[in-house]
Amino acid sequence: MRIKITYWILVLFFGISCTRIVDSVEQKSSSWNEYESEHYIFYVREGSQAEESIEAIKVEQERAYRELNERLGLTFDRKLLVYVYESRQDFGETVRTGRAHPELGMIETIYGSDAKTIGMRGISLHELSHIVAFYEWCPVTERLFSEGLAVWLDDYWRAPSITSTDLFQISKVLLRRGQLPSVEDMITQWDELESQHSYPAAGAFTKFLIREYGLDSFKRLYCEARTRNFDSVFFDIYGKRFWEIEEVYHSFLRNY
Ligand SMILES: [Zn+2]
Repeated sequence: MRIKITYWILVLFFGISCTRIVDSVEQKSSSWNEYESEHYIFYVREGSQAEESIEAIKVEQERAYRELNERLGLTFDRKLLVYVYESRQDFGETVRTGRAHPELGMIETIYGSDAKTIGMRGISLHELSHIVAFYEWCPVTERLFSEGLAVWLDDYWRAPSITSTDLFQISKVLLRRGQLPSVEDMITQWDELESQHSYPAAGAFTKFLIREYGLDSFKRLYCEARTRNFDSVFFDIYGKRFWEIEEVYHSFLRNY
């Protein structure tokens, strides 16, 4: 009985929070103009850079949609809502530059002079991947895996004071500087890490795992491994302790 009540409280809470998200976007929505492509409905600000570049954004996002399906071996075909803010200020966030709401099939992004998180190669798969993985893989995972998957798919990162945009090259530099987050830190204290280190580090480690052991194993890890069972699930899937594979990975980076 208690489980049932808890379940309904959760359902109610989930419903309320979804309504709140829609309300908060709608409140900012007085000047949204709507554009549609095969898999997206875009909402952009009147006269914004995004509105000027809407055809290019549509083309790049449709390309990203196809690429994501191909690389993950899927036939995902749901239409998504994309809100495109003009700037970080318009988005109302100082740190974040995008957000996915998988349960709503909705993405919030920025396309302006201070940030672009939609419609550009190197970022066009990121928020999209959070939505697709939610429906096609699992609704819940750890940040190491969701951000690792997203950054691996874009296969690109711009880190301050590092000229390369190659994930392994960036991680090699971070490792040399003693700034590469360990796998253990990424699984146990993601929110404490500097995002300019954790995101490319997660993307590069994901890339290494998929390259060495394939996508199916990574998908299992994504769906089954949680902070509390990470060590044992990792061992079940890869047949080695995570720190053993991390040592091999670090020597791969040193020689990269
Ligand atoms: Zn993300």
